[in-house]
Amino acid sequence: MRHFNFKKIIFLIPFFMIFSFCFLIACQHSDTNSSQFSQKPQINNNSIVIESNSVVIDKTINETINENTSKIENKTLSNNTKNEIEQTKLINQEELPQSQKLVMIDPGHQSIINTDVEPIGPASNELKLKMSSGTQGIVTGIPEYQLNLEVSLKLEKELLKRGYQVEMTRRENEVNISNIERAEMANQMEADAFIRIHANGSNDSSVQGMMTICQTENNPFNANIASDCELLSNFILDAMVELTDAVKQYVWKTDIMSGINWSNVPVTIVEIGYMSNSAEDLRLAESEYQEKIVKGIANGIDDFFGF
Ligand SMILES: [Zn+2]
Repeated sequence: MRHFNFKKIIFLIPFFMIFSFCFLIACQHSDTNSSQFSQKPQINNNSIVIESNSVVIDKTINETINENTSKIENKTLSNNTKNEIEQTKLINQEELPQSQKLVMIDPGHQSIINTDVEPIGPASNELKLKMSSGTQGIVTGIPEYQLNLEVSLKLEKELLKRGYQVEMTRRENEVNISNIERAEMANQMEADAFIRIHANGSNDSSVQGMMTICQTENNPFNANIASDCELLSNFILDAMVELTDAVKQYVWKTDIMSGINWSNVPVTIVEIGYMSNSAEDLRLAESEYQEKIVKGIANGIDDFFGF
């Protein structure tokens, strides 16, 4: 039978303790390392998140600042533009004699045909359509009322630029305003000139050119302003032809136009060209040519008032 040797066991205890101690130290050391490795990326990740957040914040702040700056700039710009317009108006009102004159522009016809009738002049038994359809482009197919409005809006712009006060009988095609009503608008506003914009049509497609229309000296309704109307018609026709090189027809004096007969203020019908002539129809549709026409009309109005 073997006996336990207690002396040997006691002798081995310190070795066992040293071994255990070393094992524990080794384990602890490896834990520390692993924890360091696992923490480092976490710290890095956090800093990356913080950095990217700060970038986002920075970006947002920058964008907000930029947006606000551009808003402020835009506001300043639009204020400046407004101021410039106001200043131009003030200069025009103070310095340009045109600002004392009111021009009423009537773009002829409308998209709505009104076949009702009205007296051709005050207290007349003779009746005429409230609003005829007008002509249309032989090549372009553009209705006259559309061309008349385009040219009239350009004329309004040109006259405003020169300092005139301007009123329009219509700004849209889909309206229903009779010839008498248009003349009454000019009368009520006490316009200094009533410019009625029209385009012509003929059965003879070779006919082209410009004309203006006013009443005769014997007009039963408003002969008192006939000479003024003739002057206005002549000045506009001459100035228009000079700028456009169009064929000059003549000032047609007639008493069959209700819009003229009902007018108490200097009035003319401006026939800017023949839509029944293919070459002229195409020219009339060009924006550049329209600009020449309105500058010509404006020059004629300037001449009429002696500016
Ligand atoms: Zn017409």
